[in-house]
Amino acid sequence: MCAPPARTLNLAGMAYLDHAATTPMRQCAVDVWVEHSGALNAGSPHAAGRRANAVLADARERVAAALGADPVEVVFTGSGTEANNIGVRGLYLASGIPRVISTPIEHPAVLEPVKALGQTVAEVAWLPVGRDGHVRDLAALDEPAAVAAVMWANNETGAIQPVGEVVERASAAGTPVHVDAVQAVGHVPVDFHACGATTLAASAHKFGGPRGTGILLARRSPAPLPVVLGGGQERGIRSGTVDVASAAATAAALEEAVAEMGRERARVRGLRDALLSGVAAAVPEVIVATQEPALDGHAHMMFPGANADALIMLLDAAGIEVAAGSACASGVVRMSHVLETMGFTEREAMGALRVTVGRTTTSDDVERFLAAIAGVVERARAAGAI
Ligand code: PLP
Repeated sequence: MCAPPARTLNLAGMAYLDHAATTPMRQCAVDVWVEHSGALNAGSPHAAGRRANAVLADARERVAAALGADPVEVVFTGSGTEANNIGVRGLYLASGIPRVISTPIEHPAVLEPVKALGQTVAEVAWLPVGRDGHVRDLAALDEPAAVAAVMWANNETGAIQPVGEVVERASAAGTPVHVDAVQAVGHVPVDFHACGATTLAASAHKFGGPRGTGILLARRSPAPLPVVLGGGQERGIRSGTVDVASAAATAAALEEAVAEMGRERARVRGLRDALLSGVAAAVPEVIVATQEPALDGHAHMMFPGANADALIMLLDAAGIEVAAGSACASGVVRMSHVLETMGFTEREAMGALRVTVGRTTTSDDVERFLAAIAGVVERARAAGAI
């Protein structure tokens, strides 16, 4: 079990409630990374290369065991974004059917490649999403497509999507399924073979591994074609010299996350539920966007009349770190595409906060948030009314 990661954290005095954005690296991952930081090129045939390759092979086996995959199906990438791009675009390239299926609530790592295919070579069928943030009509899956890309759990609301039904229905039409499981892996049980997906993306920094390391699980067939061409590492699916130390640290973090999942899920859910009921009691006119089934740590709330920018700055000044539930591009806060799809108004969505509880969160952090939120919303609403 990891020692408390105090040395590697910079959370002193802050209540960090943004674990869905990234979560602090586990001490075991830091230790393993340091241990293997001298690993050289795992593709070299000499002794140093063979040593690096042995560490990489071990990491691959451990990731596979933790996620119900075969070691050969584990492809290390440079991010969850890259894993998603390979899944979506690679499966499209492997098939060539000019049709792609996805949902309008995907993370940009899936949404943008899907839209790009839609603007150039393919027709895109969007699965409709209800006001509860869950995909609700799978009929578009009955017609074959090159790929159906559906997320396991939404990064904003935490809503868990019906991935099993999606795979069943898509498979009946012969369509491979790519699952963006970046928010799910390490937090809820994920079994690649049992879920039936063709490819699945994960990201180490969401479960206490290093930032800048992704995982793509890819079945032997149909396998995605590469989207970046090069030396042919990682089955030719992801070229580039593999970061062996980060792969090993990812495996260590994932094993620990999976080992403590049962206990940790209940603890995190208890803190999240206390936070949600505390906010409901303290703040008038709050709308909770997170609807079950959802990830245990997500609390997505809207405070109509307040602006998310103001909420975040006021909370930050009180030592509380959370995320906006609306997208910020080039300094301009825009309505979240997820909330828009769910049917919320601009006034509601512009006051959206995503508060995510995680491994380092304590009841003191939740109490601190609850002590501050009513006053913060009142001030942000007053500022918005000017
Ligand atoms: N997919 C989802 C659902 C995410 O939440 C994120 C990151 O927030 C990504 C993909 C991108 O992962 P990465 O930050 O590793 O590129």
